[in-house]
Amino acid sequence: MKVIKPSFQIITPIDSDQILKTIEAVGRTCYKSEDKITDDSCKSFVSGIIKRGHEAVIEHYNITVRLINDRGVSHEEVRHRIASYAQESTRYCNYSKDKFGNEITYIDLKGGMELDPKMKSLDAEAVASIYNEWLMACSDAERHYNRMIELGASPQIARSVLNNSTKTEICITMNMREWRHFFKIRTPIAAHPQMREIAAMLLNEFKARIPVIFDDIECEVE
Ligand SMILES: Cc1cc2nc3c(=O)[nH]c(=O)nc-3n(C[C@H](O)[C@H](O)[C@H](O)COP(=O)(O)OP(=O)(O)OC[C@H]3O[C@@H](n4cnc5c(N)ncnc54)[C@H](O)[C@@H]3O)c2cc1C
Repeated sequence: MKVIKPSFQIITPIDSDQILKTIEAVGRTCYKSEDKITDDSCKSFVSGIIKRGHEAVIEHYNITVRLINDRGVSHEEVRHRIASYAQESTRYCNYSKDKFGNEITYIDLKGGMELDPKMKSLDAEAVASIYNEWLMACSDAERHYNRMIELGASPQIARSVLNNSTKTEICITMNMREWRHFFKIRTPIAAHPQMREIAAMLLNEFKARIPVIFDDIECEVE
């Protein structure tokens, strides 16, 4: 088995100027204030739109990302209804094949354990024992999966022994308003630690690469 860290790729090419200018062009239709467009008017216009809560305007720009996280987190991601998804299928992917290295890939639980409030109160020995139990459960699941395939099961039947830590890839397209909503509810301490882990990584990247739109969203992940 293989254990990897969660990660992401932003699939949509990011031209921050283009994003803000598109939103400005759309939004100024409401006020017929296109005459006020200048080279750098888009930042203050979009910032004002967001401050006033006129967020329907920012629905006019979509961003697609590929998230690589575990299946438990992906169950939460797909609860967001104003989005489109394409996810790696455990029905069609046969992880016992060479192209998957004949092994199951798991998303490391360490990042989530470090962000979990209760785990923080445990001593190092207890944390190591819990992590070890998890490793053993993953290894057992892989063994049973491979054995079921060997015995003739299809991947869609053998997948029933795979756990929530199984790595998945999921492409998600959301408009900017929905991404804002996603980050607002998926980065606070109340969210699942592994969801917070990946959501915070992505929010920080969005903040770095797309000015204005995500500036007011605080990332609570320490
Ligand atoms: C901390 C946390 C704990 C959670 N715990 C659970 C749990 O125990 N069990 C569980 O089942 N789920 C749980 N969820 C998932 C949660 O109930 C939502 O399904 C998920 O967060 C999607 O968010 P959403 O419904 O706000 O928005 P989205 O589906 O992303 O939609 C965005 C917004 O559009 C609007 N909208 C969308 N659809 C409708 C509609 N039909 N009617 C009216 N307005 C709509 C709403 O304003 C909504 O906020 C939890 C989520 C969080 C963040």
